[in-house]
Amino acid sequence: MKASQFFISTLKEAPADAEVVSHKLMMRAGLIKKLGAGIYSYMPMGLRVIRKVEAIVREEMNRAGAVECTMPVVQPAELWQETGRFEKMGPELLRIQDRHGRDFVIQPTSEEVVTDIARQELRSYKQLPRNLYQIQTKFRDERRPRFGLMRGREFIMKDAYSFDRDQAGAKASYQAMAQAYRRIFDRFGLRYRAVAADSGAIGGDLSEEFQVIAATGEDAIVYCPASDYAANMEKAEALAPAGPRPAAAAPMTRTPTPGKATCAEVAELLGVPLQTTVKSLVLATDETNEAGEIVKSQVWLLLLRGDHDMNEIKVSKVPGLDKGFRFATVTEIEAHFGAKPGYLGPIGLRKPVQVVADREVALMADWICGANEEDFHITGVNWGRDLPEPDAVADLRNVVAGDPSPDGKGVLAIERGIEVGHVFYLSTKYSKAMNATFLGEDGKPAFFEMGCYGIGITRLPAAAIEQNHDERGIIWPDAIAPFTVVICPIGMDRSEEVRAVAEKLHGELLASGIDVILDDRGERPGAMFADWELIGVPHRITIGDKGLKEGQVEYLHRRDAGATKVGVAEILAHVK
Ligand code: ATP
Ligand code: MG
Ligand code: MG
Ligand code: MG
Repeated sequence: MKASQFFISTLKEAPADAEVVSHKLMMRAGLIKKLGAGIYSYMPMGLRVIRKVEAIVREEMNRAGAVECTMPVVQPAELWQETGRFEKMGPELLRIQDRHGRDFVIQPTSEEVVTDIARQELRSYKQLPRNLYQIQTKFRDERRPRFGLMRGREFIMKDAYSFDRDQAGAKASYQAMAQAYRRIFDRFGLRYRAVAADSGAIGGDLSEEFQVIAATGEDAIVYCPASDYAANMEKAEALAPAGPRPAAAAPMTRTPTPGKATCAEVAELLGVPLQTTVKSLVLATDETNEAGEIVKSQVWLLLLRGDHDMNEIKVSKVPGLDKGFRFATVTEIEAHFGAKPGYLGPIGLRKPVQVVADREVALMADWICGANEEDFHITGVNWGRDLPEPDAVADLRNVVAGDPSPDGKGVLAIERGIEVGHVFYLSTKYSKAMNATFLGEDGKPAFFEMGCYGIGITRLPAAAIEQNHDERGIIWPDAIAPFTVVICPIGMDRSEEVRAVAEKLHGELLASGIDVILDDRGERPGAMFADWELIGVPHRITIGDKGLKEGQVEYLHRRDAGATKVGVAEILAHVK
């Protein structure tokens, strides 16, 4: 590929609405372009990354015996009414009507359609097991689309669905998928953790999320460094004892005293690493009268910002609530987030917490906070000795760093993650609802045992960037780089020799199947290098007159501090 023919559009500044580094860099590198809230065009440079993600996922799904198909994006409402999800899914489900006034949905996932296919096509146990998957556009009308491709409304998902004759078969299919997911995420070269997730009433223990470790992740992951125990916060809390924590189990490393606390101290008290972005904390206060009765409840929202370093956090204003930080009533906060009444909480605070200044929060009281909407808050944060009345927190379950691990092998630690994949044993939930049966070996109809398995194809590049970047831009793992090698000729328009060597090398790399781009735009070296560092191409070859006189070109890996000289004759072997 030649840069002059490709589509390159880098920006000096990220747009104001880009909060996390991956969103900023994807915009600046020209990988995506915003069309509306949570709706993005995948620009040529970004699409190349997405296609590579898809290819790896496709290869491993095929290897695991899944079969690809494509199901419609627009699906008749009747199918969704059969399972009740047309109503149950609420506002996240985008419903539309055709010219005849018939209802349709834009698929957020495809259990209904795939179960409909199965009940028509898979008639006998002899046709089982089967696993159908697609890599397709999804739409979810997320309440808070944000962070670019991380939480879009329109996005691409790989969704697979397994059909088995019995529970043992379904569990084997589930395990095969969980294995395939490990291979997939290993190939991306990212640090991730498979964590147990809550599967609701049906799934038993068979639900796991694949979480890419990142300080900006929206999910809290609980794990035990001394064993292989790992769960998402919801699952960990479901296992933890209910009610207020006994004082002895409180994870305090020191007793908080009224006064100021530094960010490091707050981080320590919250049980999160310093390198964590705490997006927001909601604190609630109860104002009591002399008799101890609550006369007024208030919820305060602290937005703690800072991309990667808690030392930079700022307590800033609540968007949409004006005049900087201030108290807001419960009703205001609920209205602001469109949350159900009573959904924010349970949180307890006895006395005011005062925001003193950037980087300092005055801690005036014992408080606990958490168990809020997972999208917004650290859940399970607990700090305090003097908890609210037991009644008020009767079903509050806390899991904090330092708690004993459920497997008894050590203590728990907490980190943040980005959910990039999810495997889920469904049992007969959908087959029963849709009367989807096959004929068993005994000649009797039986319901399919099912599982479903998702991967966020377009979320994955964002997660990869959260883990792989520096102040100059993205550093792609080779497996998903838009181009693996960039050739940067210096003075190509002046030097025939530079041009000839660059063109020849470009041709040879292409011929050996390497994704290479030749920057023939005639940009000055500084601008050219800045572009490719921002875009994050892992291998760079610089060709200049001076080097060529000695028969050499320069090789630089995106992570290297300085270039190395390599002979013109050896460079091909060097990057292959
Ligand atoms: P989340 O908890 O982040 O809302 P989810 O649990 O609702 O995700 P699933 O239904 O498990 O998502 O879908 C499978 C995968 O699709 C997720 O693991 C995630 O990688 C991806 N995904 C889900 N919602 C989005 C979104 N709004 N934008 C991009 N990718 C998404
Ligand atoms: Mg979701
Ligand atoms: Mg989730
Ligand atoms: Mg999920």
